[in-house]
Amino acid sequence: MSPAPQNKPNLLHALRLRCPHCGKTPLLKSGSFIEFGVGCQPCNYNYERELGYFSGASWMMNYAFASIMAMLAGGYMVWKHSEAGDLIVAGIPALFGGVTAFLFIPWGRSLWMWIDHTLHPLTEADQLNP
Ligand SMILES: [Zn+2]
Repeated sequence: MSPAPQNKPNLLHALRLRCPHCGKTPLLKSGSFIEFGVGCQPCNYNYERELGYFSGASWMMNYAFASIMAMLAGGYMVWKHSEAGDLIVAGIPALFGGVTAFLFIPWGRSLWMWIDHTLHPLTEADQLNP
């Protein structure tokens, strides 16, 4: 099998939910909104480099993004709809943040992978078919 890809991971490929190296292989398993495939065959590497690899994506990417979106929604509610009552003013941003966190899952994982591959290039140990 070919060695792990040596080209730099591309952010645009990651944002399109494609392999950050070749940009051809979809990251998501066919028919799934959240679950990633096993790896990229042409580039020959596993998406999940170690057990629990994407756990950090949930907290460091999704939580941060959803928190920012909820704070923006909260600011908007206080600015434009402060007369609506405390429960509405606080509840709508909280709900918005939760929905945003769920919808952002694939991009959070993809960006996590892009950052990891940029900081820690693939090695022989990451090969799909050694
Ligand atoms: Zn690839």
